[in-house]
Amino acid sequence: MTSTTSLFDLKAAIADLAGLDIITDPQQIAKLSQDYYTFSPVLVEQLTGKVGGVVIRPVDEAEVIRVAQVCVKYKIPLTVRGAGTGNYGQCVPLEGGVILDMTRMTAVKWVKPGMARMEAGVKLSVLDKQTRETGWEIRMAPSTYRTATIGGFIGGGSGGIGSVTYGQLRDRGNLQAVRVVTMEDEPKAIELRGDDVYKVAHAYGTNGIITELEVPLAPAYPWAEAIVTFPDFMTAARFGQAISDADGVIKKLVCICADPIPGYFAALKSYFPEGSHCALLIVSETSLEALNEWLKDFGGTIAYQKTAQEASKGVTLSEYSWNHTTLHARSVDPTLTYLQTLFPDDKQLTLLEHMYQHFGDEVMMHLEFLRVGGVARPAALQVVRYTTEERLNEIIAYHEAKGAFIFNPHTYVLEDGGMKQVDVEQLKFKERVDPYGLLNPGKMRAWLER
Ligand SMILES: Cc1cc2nc3c(=O)[nH]c(=O)nc-3n(C[C@H](O)[C@H](O)[C@H](O)COP(=O)(O)OP(=O)(O)OC[C@H]3O[C@@H](n4cnc5c(N)ncnc54)[C@H](O)[C@@H]3O)c2cc1C
Repeated sequence: MTSTTSLFDLKAAIADLAGLDIITDPQQIAKLSQDYYTFSPVLVEQLTGKVGGVVIRPVDEAEVIRVAQVCVKYKIPLTVRGAGTGNYGQCVPLEGGVILDMTRMTAVKWVKPGMARMEAGVKLSVLDKQTRETGWEIRMAPSTYRTATIGGFIGGGSGGIGSVTYGQLRDRGNLQAVRVVTMEDEPKAIELRGDDVYKVAHAYGTNGIITELEVPLAPAYPWAEAIVTFPDFMTAARFGQAISDADGVIKKLVCICADPIPGYFAALKSYFPEGSHCALLIVSETSLEALNEWLKDFGGTIAYQKTAQEASKGVTLSEYSWNHTTLHARSVDPTLTYLQTLFPDDKQLTLLEHMYQHFGDEVMMHLEFLRVGGVARPAALQVVRYTTEERLNEIIAYHEAKGAFIFNPHTYVLEDGGMKQVDVEQLKFKERVDPYGLLNPGKMRAWLER
């Protein structure tokens, strides 16, 4: 067990927390110390064997405050976790201590037209099901929405299915309020609203334990699904750009995969002609006719189409998009890894085409269109044939030198992923609410180097 927390500290803490749901079984603790950092061979090297000392599963905010009080009293590190589907070792406890598993805090407090308030541990799929009953739905979700929690999405995620229309979590208006428990000498719950929410959003649980959130919703649509195939990748990519730009088409997913990626999708394989490139689309059923008109312009072939009712059962294209694409590729070839890139706002897709030609099969192109600053842009989660860390860094450097923005998924340090710079507000907030640096230690560079 890699832990800097002595057993004695934990024993005393556990005794103080008698009556709570406490997990001490080493196997279960090891499991609940993990996330999906295994997609990165670089992180595997750095994080394997890092485990917490105990897992505590609070049922309400009062219990969260109790755990915070005890951790402050004994100066024990505390790492919050939702479902543990993060990709960068975000909830791996680098210094052991307490793992606070939020998955028992699942109450949806209220749903109003356009807004919902819920506890942090509710699964996104459960929340969405409940809000859809009122004609509203969550605006965006990661492809892990079946298991991921809303607290984990806000703590560590960025966007996903829905981002082609609504942008990303960090865009003003996509998160209304958060309630967080602090790690001061006297821990307490405080509510953050307006721009203050960004003090803790996407901070990897380093500066507050989110207990409740208020999340804006979107009108619910009947979502149909389609797979379109193309003989040429750049035609597929330009179709993706056009459909993402098409104001009249109501959409939730525009995912483009270059050959040979479709070959990794075992359950869908029969829909792809040999050597074809594909678009995985989720559009409102009412937009299917318009979609057909766009297809005439680009010459794609519809290989698969499901009505909203059919799409609600069995295989869903959501679970082939975003980082599920990498998941499927890795289930065929576990040596594969990935990158995360944002391409410039250029309707000609010049740089994207250059990268596609330049790297060929070594960096297989997988695009997710999303709205950035009011315009649709291609982001890529390229599937990469990994050889060495040095080569991976060369590929990253080449992209950056040419003007593509890399959100490096091969680091667990908050600032080294997508931010590239210190978020002063997040640091200041941490200094105030976590003066002993107990929350998810080792993840915020600004704190370590202040
Ligand atoms: C196959 C696959 C596909 C994915 N697709 C996407 C995608 O499309 N978009 C995307 O953004 N992400 C994606 N991810 C990453 C991840 O699934 C999402 O970000 C997800 O929302 C994380 O939720 P979680 O409950 O699993 O959080 P966890 O992994 O448990 O936690 C994530 C981070 O948030 C912190 N945290 C958790 N709960 C709280 C809380 N209550 N208070 C404070 N901090 C907290 C944790 O400490 C950790 O740093 C994907 C991952 C995989 C493996």
